[in-house]
Amino acid sequence: MRKPLIVGNWKMYKTITEAVAYVDRIKAQLPPADQVEVELAVPTLFLQSLVERTRGTNLKIAAENCFYQDEGAFTGETSPVALRELGIKHVILGHSERRRLFYESDAVVNQKVHAALQAGICPLLCVDETMKRQVQGDRVQWVVSQVLTGLAGVTAAQLPRVTLAYEPSWAIGAGKAAATPSEANEGCYLIRQTLARLYGESAAARVRILYGGSVNQTNLPALLAQSDIDGVLIGRASLDPAVFLQMVAVA
Ligand code: PGA
Repeated sequence: MRKPLIVGNWKMYKTITEAVAYVDRIKAQLPPADQVEVELAVPTLFLQSLVERTRGTNLKIAAENCFYQDEGAFTGETSPVALRELGIKHVILGHSERRRLFYESDAVVNQKVHAALQAGICPLLCVDETMKRQVQGDRVQWVVSQVLTGLAGVTAAQLPRVTLAYEPSWAIGAGKAAATPSEANEGCYLIRQTLARLYGESAAARVRILYGGSVNQTNLPALLAQSDIDGVLIGRASLDPAVFLQMVAVA
């Protein structure tokens, strides 16, 4: 019922030359969109040219962030309305790197979710879980509270346009180990249960929930085999086009 979604998150890697070469290499080799949806979230600088280069292919280009106002005196920010005009349909919001390094609070993430929806862009809302929370044993409350605050005011009619991602920050980045498939599934299930409380079981059952954090070719099949994991958000392993293509083929 929920079609798998594979999202590469390039973060602040690559130059435009490298980005174009990568996209040109993979865009014609992806499986049909009715089997698996494939997206690359790329730096803002590359959005326009990559959207143009991927038009009519199964590769969709997503933004890694946007601001919560459509326009104004906000030096250096990116308007969701301007993203929409470029043809961007998805934006990652609330990634743990944005929360940690750029001090994005739950309230700011929630404003961004609303601004994206208003502009006609689908948010991919990331829910973090820190090692401290895991050790302290209050991870459940932490994950639940991020879902509640991130989606505050989002209506049942808007929910189908939202995707969520369980991204424990203790599993993200070089040198970290991914969550085990059952830990990852537990996090995704927790998010789905929270959605069910808010919007009802059947609405929650239709929402796609991804896992992210050190996903690679080796752990991908077991992660995707879990009941509540509908896809993955891939950082480092998405930087190499050959590796990314192989991972998409597995899905
Ligand atoms: P990673 O990043 O795959 O490099 O751990 C995942 C993410 O930040 O979404």
